[in-house]
Amino acid sequence: MEKGNKTIRNLLGFIDRSPTPFHAVQEMTGTLSDKGFNELKETDAWNLVPNGRYFLTRNDSSLIAFVVGSKPCEKFKIIGAHTDSPNLRLKPNAGYAKNGYLQLGVEVYGGVLLSTWTDRDLSLAGRVILAGKKKPISKLIRFEQTLLRIPQLAIHLNRDVNKKGLILNAQNHLPPIFSVQKKSAADEILKKMISRELKCRPADIIGLELSLYDTQPGTIAGPEGEFVFSGRLDNLASCHSAMQALTESTTKDPATRVIAFYDHEEVGSETAQGAGSPFLKDVLERISLDEGRESFLRALAKSFFISADMAHAVHPNYADKHDTEHMPLINAGPVIKSNAGQRYATDAVSSAWFESLCRKAKIPVQKFVVRSDLGCGSTIGPVTAANLGIRTVDVGNPMLSMHSIREMAGTKDHESLTRVFKEYFR
Ligand code: ZN
Repeated sequence: MEKGNKTIRNLLGFIDRSPTPFHAVQEMTGTLSDKGFNELKETDAWNLVPNGRYFLTRNDSSLIAFVVGSKPCEKFKIIGAHTDSPNLRLKPNAGYAKNGYLQLGVEVYGGVLLSTWTDRDLSLAGRVILAGKKKPISKLIRFEQTLLRIPQLAIHLNRDVNKKGLILNAQNHLPPIFSVQKKSAADEILKKMISRELKCRPADIIGLELSLYDTQPGTIAGPEGEFVFSGRLDNLASCHSAMQALTESTTKDPATRVIAFYDHEEVGSETAQGAGSPFLKDVLERISLDEGRESFLRALAKSFFISADMAHAVHPNYADKHDTEHMPLINAGPVIKSNAGQRYATDAVSSAWFESLCRKAKIPVQKFVVRSDLGCGSTIGPVTAANLGIRTVDVGNPMLSMHSIREMAGTKDHESLTRVFKEYFR
């Protein structure tokens, strides 16, 4: 029997088809095209019309989509999120032979909960650059079959592991096993597999950006289907909620509604397509060009940014990691995140504003602040707030196992956040 409602099954399908930011952006641009959004190129001249629906990408891994307001320069209502998740990525010369095995060298991307990548059924996905006739061609690739494993050492050879914990050295202990030693080198085998998949010659492959991913699809869990277990909930779940809100936003609102999904949040956002880049500011300015720079700046001053990223639910076995008055629960509603050190961009005004939005959507809301003796995480909120000077709130749904290869969140929360975003864009 298929459990769970359509929204959650749709979310799981989206995440399963999105093992990398490239795939996530491809999925979303496909949906946007189906829903009547027109693709723009940064290199072209734009002729935008009031109430028009548009999208564009940068590096094929960051995406901005928008519905122009009936008064294009009135103000901007924006939701931001990120497309990337922590994972392991192949090194440029990945393949090597060692002790009878063929292995692939990997780098750690972002704050990976490393132990969760061991003993999983792993495969490869990402982007391949092929030498084209006139210029290089970028192709997405995803191997469906399980190809790799990072096996843990047997407990007989690591007797203290349950007492001292699993200590993994990124250089020595993370390279997955690819095969047993053969006449062909690992890189050669990999290139042959890619060329079969993309129907090209191995010699045509001139660039590779491949990541490891878990081949096990996400699932709905719990006696009443209250949970969702999947990789990359952080932060594709937020992208999914915002996408639904924008694509269903049809009213002739004077405000321009925007979603901005960035790559590279997990490594600090300071890249050409990250939240620290001028990508969003450039797009907002181009939407307003006809009205002049002063109108653009006035619109910015009236605008609002919801930075959506997952939040830390309290873990029942480690409740002392939370402040006793700030213990978000799964399925008890989205979380407003704040931090005196401005690691989150929320202030009293933006918090109150989001709370009233939740009240309008008839859903509960929770608050999170990290324990005073622990360091605070961050997200795209403060980066974009500093970039644009727009009032911002940092929110997100509560989850467990953040940055694990398989995370855990609540089905009800996902529907709730989607409802709030729909209210925002209504
Ligand atoms: Zn995140």
